[in-house]
Amino acid sequence: MEKRELLYEGKAKKVYATGDPELLIVQYKDDATAFNGKKKGSIAGKGIINNRMSNRLMEKLEQTGIPTHYVRELSERETLVKKVRIVPLEVIVRNVSAGSFAKRYGVEEGIVFSAPTIEFSYKNDALDDPLICLPHIYALGLATREEMETIKEYAYGVNRFLKDFWASCGVTLVDFKLEFGRLPEGSIILADEISPDTSRLWDTATGEKLDKDRFRRDLGGVEEAYAEIMSRLEAADRG
Ligand code: ADP
Ligand code: MG
Repeated sequence: MEKRELLYEGKAKKVYATGDPELLIVQYKDDATAFNGKKKGSIAGKGIINNRMSNRLMEKLEQTGIPTHYVRELSERETLVKKVRIVPLEVIVRNVSAGSFAKRYGVEEGIVFSAPTIEFSYKNDALDDPLICLPHIYALGLATREEMETIKEYAYGVNRFLKDFWASCGVTLVDFKLEFGRLPEGSIILADEISPDTSRLWDTATGEKLDKDRFRRDLGGVEEAYAEIMSRLEAADRG
């Protein structure tokens, strides 16, 4: 599939048109940002790991019946995906308190919830991606009630699958962010990426963070953590 014009350059990926109007190529970069772009840096090899990890996880999710944009891995950093109209929401599922949840409610990190939670933020960099409730999603016309029911069902389905998968790797899935989009005929599918940039993954035995919090919080060993989490996934895949 040939790569045509650059349509969008985001914080972590570049998005290119292809010869097929229904397909795009995403190219993963090593650029890392945090706090809505206020902190900038680079994580060597991150793009290669995130591309591969997101593709392996989306293949597994497809097998569980969750539709995704994944079509085919083209190279170390490039993947062919179905073009969608992105629903401008970050869909966040949490199993354990951390990050903005802990800060917002003044609680420590590491509280294991009795059931997973879901929340939405409005994907809008100028507004710093504010938290948004369902009535406001409907008021702004960002998605319909039916679409939000589908999004919730898929998001919890992703969580059920990923929580068990990561547990089999000795990793606790603390929380993660998803993005969904609409195919031309209107159906909702999972888009964007699932990676250590968009998930919190803690070594279950030691509590060590194996995700982008190492970069956000200047904990060091960032590249090593990305390599470690990828090797856990590949070890699980080898059985
Ligand atoms: P951002 O800085 O907005 O997070 P990224 O660097 O993650 O951007 O680049 C990916 C961009 O492409 C995001 O805006 C994301 O919403 C969008 N995107 C992801 N998957 C698809 C898809 N299948 N079709 C269209 N747009 C997509
Ligand atoms: Mg992004």
